[in-house]
Amino acid sequence: MRLIHTVAEMASAQKGVIRPLGLVPTMGALHQGHLSLVRRAKEDNATVEVSIFVNPAQFGPREDLSTYPRNQEQDLALLEEQGVDLVFLPQPDDIYPAGFDTWVNVGRVASRLEGEARPDHFRGVATVVSKLFNIVRPDRAYFGQKDAQQVQVIRKMISDLNLSVEMAVLPTVREPDGLAMSSRNAYLSLQERQAAPVLYRSLRRAQDMHTDGVRQASAIREAIQNIISTEPMAHLEYVSIASPETLDEMDTIQEPTLVSLAVRIGKTRLIDNVVLGNGGL
Ligand code: AMP
Repeated sequence: MRLIHTVAEMASAQKGVIRPLGLVPTMGALHQGHLSLVRRAKEDNATVEVSIFVNPAQFGPREDLSTYPRNQEQDLALLEEQGVDLVFLPQPDDIYPAGFDTWVNVGRVASRLEGEARPDHFRGVATVVSKLFNIVRPDRAYFGQKDAQQVQVIRKMISDLNLSVEMAVLPTVREPDGLAMSSRNAYLSLQERQAAPVLYRSLRRAQDMHTDGVRQASAIREAIQNIISTEPMAHLEYVSIASPETLDEMDTIQEPTLVSLAVRIGKTRLIDNVVLGNGGL
């Protein structure tokens, strides 16, 4: 497994790799969710690269950039175990050198939900992902449904900017009690961790209602609100029942429908989602 620390070295290394080349962009503190993307990338490609970069541009001024979990030694051991070929570990001032001043702004689909709660978040995501695509030149890139809006933002960017990268989206990997795996779960106290499965519990209820034939979005939204409110430590920021493609809210469920939510538990903000109907993201 080759470690690459600079943009210049990466840009020249990608020229010699055996293709297809699959890229898994991450912010490190790797867990089984990340590794599921790596495994799929290994199946699909001759060469697999993982980037680990805690991207300052996607954190707001009052967010957790300085405390975001970092665990490079363990990350590298996990990636080595998976047979990853290349790991790209750039420094922030190599990705954003002094004077850096060009941004990728995806429109409507980036403006709502997470975009409302975290202004500039998706500008940071779209910019770093397009830079990674240009530096690494992957044939395919792998993302998790866990961050459903991010998937749509990147999909729109690839389409609108004619980027020649094939995007693969893989299902959310969960803990046995249903909590979606996330590097930020490490922030939860024991008590908060016990409260956190309420997110998926509420999403399961939405799935059950849909299976039972409920098609009124307001009824499902209310059921989710009620379940979240049974957990005193959980504070619902939003629940959205929307078209996965446009993220326009729906009154009547059509398939597929993305049900997503953000919940604050103590100081930790958790997001999760499910897709109703047979089509995935
Ligand atoms: P992150 O390191 O949080 O930026 O995540 C890197 C990639 O892993 C993103 O495409 C995420 O959507 C994906 N990912 C994070 N958590 C999970 C999970 N529990 N299951 C599947 N994919 C995930």
